[in-house]
Amino acid sequence: MRVTLVDRHNHHLFQPLLYQVATAGLSAPEIAAPIRGILRSHRNATVLLGNVDAVDRQQRAITVDGVRIEYDFLIVAAGVSHSYFGNDAWAEHAPGLKSLDDAFEIRDRVLLAWELAERAESESERRGLLTFVVVGAGPTGVELAGALAEIARHTMAKNFRRFDPRTAKIILIEAGDRVLPSYHQRLSAKAEHALRRLGVEVRTGSRVTDVDEAGVRLSDEFIPAATVLWAAGIAGSGVGGMLGSTLDRAGRVCVDGMLNLADDPQVFVVGDLAASTQEDGTLVPGLAPAAIQMGRYAGRAIRRRLKGSEVRPFEYLDKGSMATIGRSKAVAEAGRIRLSGGVAWLAWVFIHVLFLAGFRNRLVVLFDWAVAWITFRRGARVVSDGAAARRLEQWRDSRPKLPGEGNRTSTLPEDGSA
Ligand SMILES: Cc1cc2nc3c(=O)[nH]c(=O)nc-3n(C[C@H](O)[C@H](O)[C@H](O)COP(=O)(O)OP(=O)(O)OC[C@H]3O[C@@H](n4cnc5c(N)ncnc54)[C@H](O)[C@@H]3O)c2cc1C
Repeated sequence: MRVTLVDRHNHHLFQPLLYQVATAGLSAPEIAAPIRGILRSHRNATVLLGNVDAVDRQQRAITVDGVRIEYDFLIVAAGVSHSYFGNDAWAEHAPGLKSLDDAFEIRDRVLLAWELAERAESESERRGLLTFVVVGAGPTGVELAGALAEIARHTMAKNFRRFDPRTAKIILIEAGDRVLPSYHQRLSAKAEHALRRLGVEVRTGSRVTDVDEAGVRLSDEFIPAATVLWAAGIAGSGVGGMLGSTLDRAGRVCVDGMLNLADDPQVFVVGDLAASTQEDGTLVPGLAPAAIQMGRYAGRAIRRRLKGSEVRPFEYLDKGSMATIGRSKAVAEAGRIRLSGGVAWLAWVFIHVLFLAGFRNRLVVLFDWAVAWITFRRGARVVSDGAAARRLEQWRDSRPKLPGEGNRTSTLPEDGSA
């Protein structure tokens, strides 16, 4: 067999720790590894950096940046992106978190909001800059909110002279009636309690009706906020639509029990992009263990078919799920086992380090976490020059124009009494 792996990124990304990059806890190379390096000893595997822009199932070929590649079997594992439920204009004001670029964008926005808060010239301006809204209280939203609260409480302590960082507001908005809706109610309650103790304002049963550069509108209220992060809703990757097959409402590709398209056994769809139904009628969840199991299954199924052996339907083995809340609390669920607090957090650390690609990364991440745990510091508090220049220009343009603009003096005291 010859295997060709096409991806528009040159790296494999460990998404479960992406929120750490977005909140300056870890740096990018700690959670990403070059795909080419991972597959270096598989001599029959070729890695191509490229964007899949068409699939022709009749001719059994895909097009990568205009170049045709023929296949005997096609495994589509293109994942999902964010959904703004038909309000794509919100994306500009409320970035989601799926890729390293998203994480850098969020990190720049969060850190620059703090920087500009030191330069704010009125209390209302500062309040907007120090209000961080996270929309969606699934695992990603909860993890982001917890990390932002810790930044306000601990990381930024003593860093500013004109305000107290603990006055920052972190608001977590969820349309459903509880945080972590896919977890058992008891764990949701524990997670909400832990978030509130960290100082996060949790608002369940609240639906966002608009997002713009000034903040977030709920049905009956406007929250001024310079930083809004989107952790609600998923949409299947565009590659799913190129297959010309049935999609579910979230744009995932409907597959049969063998993870094939109903009318095409040469095409497998695996991972987050697959809408694969289990025996009890529920969908296989969009989790890393499910994606790994599906990938393995598709590889083995092809091998068995080539040998003429029988192929059994895919069976998902639920390995549980976990979410962390701040530096020492988490919730974890595997079948009937439910853990919360410090024990769950230790399990979370262990499992996340275990699954990181590369031995060096495991050591470096463990070391960085240990340092952060002891000192409360976040080692990756770096804003890109371009983002800083753009945000400063935007900030300057938004100020009321005064005569002698260039020579304005700061109106706030430097002694922290503001
Ligand atoms: C912030 C975050 C936190 C998460 N936390 C957890 C967790 O704690 N535990 C857990 O189990 N799961 C977690 N997940 C889910 C988990 O990461 C996914 O289930 C898993 O990555 C799915 O794997 P996949 O291969 O289906 O898709 P992905 O990992 O998304 O990979 C899809 C790949 O397809 C490529 N691609 C897409 N379109 C194209 C195209 N047109 N051309 C070329 N390449 C393309 C992309 O570049 C990408 O590399 C998290 C996800 C996110 C976003």
